[in-house]
Amino acid sequence: MTAYPNMLAPLDLGFTTLKNRVLMGSMHTGLEETGDWNRVAEFYAARARGGVALMVTGGIGPNLEGSVLPGASMMTSATDVENHRVITDRVHAAGGRIAMQILHAGRYAYGPKCVGPSPVKSPISPFPPHELDEDGIEKQIADIVNAARRAQEAGYDGVEIMGSEGYFLNQFLVTRTNKRTDRWGGSYENRMRLPIEVVRRTREAVGRKFIIIYRLSMIDLVPEGSTHDEVVQLAQEVEKAGATILNTGIGWHEARIPTIATSVPRAAFAWVTQKLMGKVSIPIITSNRINTPEVAEQVLAEGCADMVSMARPMLADADFVAKAEAGQASHIAPCIACNQACLDHTFSGKLTSCLVNPRACHETELVIEPAAAAKTVAIVGAGPAGLATALTAAQRGHKVTLFDQADEIGGQLNMAKQVPGKEEFWGLVDWYRTMIADAGVTLALGRRVAAQDLTGFDEIVVATGVIPRDPAIPGQDEANVLSYIDVLCRKKPVGQRVAVIGAGGIGFDVSEFLLEEGHSPATDLPAWMKEWGVSDPAEHRAGLAPEGPQPAAPARRVTLLQRKAERHGKRLGKTTGWIHRATLKMKEVEFLGGVNYERIDAGGLHVSFGEARENPTLVAADTIVLCSGQVSERRLADDLAEHGITAHVIGGADVAAELDAKRAINQGTRLAAAL
Ligand code: NAP
Ligand code: SF4
Repeated sequence: MTAYPNMLAPLDLGFTTLKNRVLMGSMHTGLEETGDWNRVAEFYAARARGGVALMVTGGIGPNLEGSVLPGASMMTSATDVENHRVITDRVHAAGGRIAMQILHAGRYAYGPKCVGPSPVKSPISPFPPHELDEDGIEKQIADIVNAARRAQEAGYDGVEIMGSEGYFLNQFLVTRTNKRTDRWGGSYENRMRLPIEVVRRTREAVGRKFIIIYRLSMIDLVPEGSTHDEVVQLAQEVEKAGATILNTGIGWHEARIPTIATSVPRAAFAWVTQKLMGKVSIPIITSNRINTPEVAEQVLAEGCADMVSMARPMLADADFVAKAEAGQASHIAPCIACNQACLDHTFSGKLTSCLVNPRACHETELVIEPAAAAKTVAIVGAGPAGLATALTAAQRGHKVTLFDQADEIGGQLNMAKQVPGKEEFWGLVDWYRTMIADAGVTLALGRRVAAQDLTGFDEIVVATGVIPRDPAIPGQDEANVLSYIDVLCRKKPVGQRVAVIGAGGIGFDVSEFLLEEGHSPATDLPAWMKEWGVSDPAEHRAGLAPEGPQPAAPARRVTLLQRKAERHGKRLGKTTGWIHRATLKMKEVEFLGGVNYERIDAGGLHVSFGEARENPTLVAADTIVLCSGQVSERRLADDLAEHGITAHVIGGADVAAELDAKRAINQGTRLAAAL
């Protein structure tokens, strides 16, 4: 008897049956653009072997003007068909099914040739779109239909027509972007015409036995977006036009409300999909922040949808479904929704991977095989770098001992998990605990080791991490000064007015921790919706609360300082930095930049500004928290070197600058793959 009867139930589509209710949602991995079709195929085949019922590829352009970026992958030629056949053959051989997403980006296409219903520039693109005339619209429809026909020829089981997230079809639907007065604009019937025509003509072209998923924006989260009645009307017309399945899209890319970040509660938008249940007779998929089999099962059991879409969780663990089926859910590597190695990479033009699984999208390059000869391996430091090394080394057959001076594993992950909105880190530490036990790693915790304790091992890995940087501010030894470790781990008392020194990742984290005082909107959906101004789209157009964001009062008055004169949080994650900035602004945090730290006394922190040290100012504070960065903890590495003992030094102990769990886990896994 499975714990996930709803998630693992087959889904009958009439002409074919899906083996369970899990869809791997579309992700722009950048793999298709490498031109290495074997690599792309292996990425999808690994997930097919992992048991997911149906996968959707990253967005594939139907033509040049609709492609997200110059050079983005398209489906327009016989060569494209041949290339994609490598993917479909491999997926089918692995027992999987795959649909190709047709993505016409409209005004989101990054280039001067982009097109749209009206010449209204998007706030997130520098290019105003060219207004399409009647012939231009007909060409776009023909190109989308042609891409679907070629996808079928390439062996795909279906297509997903991207109609949400503020892309081309979505742009025709709403008056925000469609100012036309012809038959493609004006009334809702007219604005709806394009998506309906696309689905109708696609169905005509591909015949009855081919899956057409239509991704429909169920809550636009932008002004002048769709009403719920319009969403229902569109869904019913899309069904009539021939769609097989409806998938949920949440929010436009330009919306100022987070929709998939880790601070968004799990399954935060399943209720939006549920509003459509019973209004159409084709299956409906829900999506966003579903990352465990338990959450997926609950969403389905509560009748929020017929199927769940998970995208990033399939990067974190290709075997998600197979492990759930085998009763090994605790072995599923959890997606912590950090975006650090997936979306942040995509938006920086880098190939996608995953913070917890560096093999994602690197399946053919980072190959982990049983070791030729088992070695004894000592790893010192049970933070992310040490844990990743220990796990992979032990899985390869090495005999691993993992030391840490702390009484528990996790290192800095244990700090991150204290921060409101970063609760997913608890699951990551739990997963490592399960996995290293399963792999037979010997744990030696609560013990500080020196060079002489490590004799007799074949390999020594130093992953001792980082220690706080000393900012050398006069008065920093006063009782009113704490380190971030005092605040996050030792839970020392903090006053009502706080000055946080250093506006890096940890300065932001500490500020968020101090502002919330034990409460986390990430685990309280009504509070989170109120904080960001999300409401029921049946009550308010596009799901925007008329009163806007209503954050709870901050628990403290916080001033966040940095010496640089740049915008606070500029170096945070590309897709999440704005959320941290917005959160702190909502909580009335004062941002002070370009400061010099002069001294600390009982009244607070004395600063001056600029090179000339002008404008001496007292930042009145009861507590000053030092978050001034970190330096490598190299005492053991130096000790070993002095004794002439060779060791691998990784993670923060190697380079502290810009250290994060992504680099640490990647470096540890790669080292262990080569030991
Ligand atoms: P960080 O990001 O390097 O920030 C250090 C801060 O300290 C900067 O604001 C810096 O700004 C300031 N600083 C540097 N030297 C100083 C000095 N001598 N005196 C006073 N201030 C000084 O380091 P972190 O905040 O400790 O974070 C460590 C790593 O953890 C980061 O690399 C980050 O990637 C990771 N992390 C990431 C997240 C995330 O959200 N993704 C969250 C937490 C941590 P000025 O030089 O301008 O003063
Ligand atoms: Fe999830 Fe982070 Fe991995 Fe992306 S990088 S898949 S968000 S864990």
